[in-house]
Amino acid sequence: MSVIEKLAKPSHLINMNDIIREGHPTLRKICDDVTFPLSDEEIILGEKMMQFLKNSQDPVTAEKMGLRGGVGLAAPQLNVSKRIIAVLVPNMEDKDGNPPKEAYSLQEVMYNPKVVAHSVQDAALADGEGCLSVDRVVEGYVVRHSRVTVEYFDKNGEKHRIKLKGYNSIVVQHEIDHTNGIMFYDRINEKNPFAVKDGMLIVE
Ligand SMILES: [Zn+2]
Repeated sequence: MSVIEKLAKPSHLINMNDIIREGHPTLRKICDDVTFPLSDEEIILGEKMMQFLKNSQDPVTAEKMGLRGGVGLAAPQLNVSKRIIAVLVPNMEDKDGNPPKEAYSLQEVMYNPKVVAHSVQDAALADGEGCLSVDRVVEGYVVRHSRVTVEYFDKNGEKHRIKLKGYNSIVVQHEIDHTNGIMFYDRINEKNPFAVKDGMLIVE
């Protein structure tokens, strides 16, 4: 049975044991495009990747299943070398503690996602980045585009084009990088991890 068939079994919930870690060769491979119509396994995998992110963000379920919290997951991290990513970015409560109007600022399973345009301005998260495939802290600014236009297909094969900025933009670029064999620390300045290029936006 192939990896994707195992992951797509109805009874299976994606957990930390399914996630491969740095050093595994699949994380350095260029993923294949998916073709449409998708296979049942490819559709189910996308749904299960989203369910994993939800589980990982639910304190009770995450504790029970031993999950690290995540806002994004790419199929290659499950040893499936296909261009499939899931992103789930929760909205924070405001500074007065009021709950957000929408639970998520971004919730999408994307097939064949691609950055088709980007700002000249760079951006990096103030606290750096982490990755479910990296079991250590790597400090430094991960230099990315501040704003991106991304094209992707949904599970029905419909094409979408979205503009992203701020945290959402960073998360999607991190996941698309996985489909191109790029790890977040590849984008940290080795000699000076906290170097700030002219005009670079620091995203809090
Ligand atoms: Zn990652």
